[in-house]
Amino acid sequence: MNRTPHKTTKPADTHFMRRSYIRKKICRFCADRNLKIDYKDSKLLRNFVTERGKIMPRRITGNCAYHQRRVAKAIKMSRIVSIMPYTSVNY
Ligand SMILES: [Zn+2]
Repeated sequence: MNRTPHKTTKPADTHFMRRSYIRKKICRFCADRNLKIDYKDSKLLRNFVTERGKIMPRRITGNCAYHQRRVAKAIKMSRIVSIMPYTSVNY
């Protein structure tokens, strides 16, 4: 067995470096049991959308999968009842 080893073209440490910036956040809803996800609570939901009204991904919000799902659903529901915007207009 005299195989030439594969040349691995792994990216440099840049990828790892970029990730090390991000501090691991804990899920807000898991940390605070009293905090309830309510589609009427626009103040709370506002924390989970971007300025333009997009739902923020889990890696930014730090929510756990379960609560991110709940938040996303709440935002979508509040959009339907027009509490939250689908997209924000430039003021
Ligand atoms: Zn959670």
